[in-house]
Amino acid sequence: MLQIDDKIVSIDLLTCGFCCDLSVCAGVCCVYGDSGAPLEKNEEKKLLKELPKFYDYLTPKGQKAIAELGVAVRDGDGDMVTPLVAEREECAYAYFTENGDCLCAIEKAFLERKTTYRKPVSCHLYPIRLKPLGSNIALCYDRQDMCQCARTLGEKNSTPVFRFLREPIIRKFGKGFYGQLEAAYALL
Ligand code: SF4
Repeated sequence: MLQIDDKIVSIDLLTCGFCCDLSVCAGVCCVYGDSGAPLEKNEEKKLLKELPKFYDYLTPKGQKAIAELGVAVRDGDGDMVTPLVAEREECAYAYFTENGDCLCAIEKAFLERKTTYRKPVSCHLYPIRLKPLGSNIALCYDRQDMCQCARTLGEKNSTPVFRFLREPIIRKFGKGFYGQLEAAYALL
């Protein structure tokens, strides 16, 4: 563990390689699991406001889930998360490409400049998961079998997890914190 101000950073984020390889995993992180992606406090409102901008990219199943459940739901732990199209199936905001890859409809609209909201912060930061720890916040590495291809490619490219996630780390915590991670990495 590494402490930078109020952030407790898993050393794995600096020492382990990671680089998503969609040609192998097909974006299964949007399908895997028994609840949706964690949402921050302001993100339910944000999803509601931005929904018309990405609505047409949702699948019929995703549109139906949102109509029935809303843009966000509470999971078994009482945390706000994205809805799923059905139990243990994909996130309501997912869509599938012709190749069968599972991608994010919100991000598709963002990349086409239809919204300034890229996607939930937790999805953008994955495989980093944030956990409150007293007055601190822990940045944990969620190591899952489904991402073995990302570990293989990251090791091959010499890309540590934190560097692969430069953009979302800066989105969430700012350039100063990212610079501190780079400085810590240089000292390893
Ligand atoms: S996080 Fe894992 S499952 Fe998701 S796109 Fe990256 S490698 Fe694939």
